[in-house]
Amino acid sequence: MRERLRREKGGILVFTAAAMVALLGFVAISIDGGYLYYRRARLQDISDSVALAASAQIMRARGSENDKKLAALETAVRCLEKNGIEVTGTSGFTASVLFKGDAGLVTLSFSDGCNRVGVDIDVTTDLFFARALSKPSTPVRVKSEAYLDWDPPNVVPLSYFYDDYVPYKKYQLNYTPGDGVHGNYGYVDFTPSSKFRHYLENGYDGEVPLGINLEILTYPGVSNGQVRQALESRINGCTGGCHLEDLDGNNDGSNVVVHIDSNCPRVVILPMVSGLHQAHGKDVVTIIGFLRFFIESYDSNSKVLTGWCLGEVTEDEINGYVGAVNVVKLVR
Ligand SMILES: [Zn+2]
Repeated sequence: MRERLRREKGGILVFTAAAMVALLGFVAISIDGGYLYYRRARLQDISDSVALAASAQIMRARGSENDKKLAALETAVRCLEKNGIEVTGTSGFTASVLFKGDAGLVTLSFSDGCNRVGVDIDVTTDLFFARALSKPSTPVRVKSEAYLDWDPPNVVPLSYFYDDYVPYKKYQLNYTPGDGVHGNYGYVDFTPSSKFRHYLENGYDGEVPLGINLEILTYPGVSNGQVRQALESRINGCTGGCHLEDLDGNNDGSNVVVHIDSNCPRVVILPMVSGLHQAHGKDVVTIIGFLRFFIESYDSNSKVLTGWCLGEVTEDEINGYVGAVNVVKLVR
């Protein structure tokens, strides 16, 4: 009888000890698990923010690809610190960080030139209860990727030599120097001039930011064939039959119906420049604004460009500051 009792007591002790370990395990899993879940979600949010901010910076930055990457890194560091992650050092595109006392690494990676920015965050996170189960810390890893879905503003090296314009008026831009009757335009030199045709056909994507008060040179030596080919390529690239209709035929900018697809290659931005075009040799002209134009036709014999003025474009739009939120996309 006594023997049996002792055996049962022992059994109860063993059972209690096993239950305690299991209970501790459950507590560890639920508390540490909750903590890890929260921490992973927080780091994922931060990683997303860093990817978006770095991508937006790449769109704004001018200069070489490496300059853009360095600008992105600088923005990423600022974004991390704003989110409570201390950056203790950087090496290449990897930052050593402290997140609430836990050490980790944040790495930026770039692909597709630098149109895609990847962010990897790896923080070794200390655990509370799991310590008792000999697992004092665990890595928490998150990653994000953002990409730029962004066409550079379609600024072309054709300049408009006036500071007055009427939106939705049809203009015949005449490349006859000194002829101020119909308006006037000329070619300008976005360096390098060897890329003139490329800039005219695809829009300026060079390294020097374009802006108001920037002085540029005119480029009188352009071959008419290049201009014709580039403009024809734009006109033929329009597949939507885009056009404008002046309902009352007055050409005073009123009663005009616009049928233009978004991203239509016939829509370009012309720098509006000051200074009279004297045409002999190169002139220095100053950018005073930007006009959006719809190219209707180009007559390569008379060199007359017929197009519709669609209004002025701000300098911020030229440099990619407007609409940044809409064009940086998170892909994770
Ligand atoms: Zn079109």
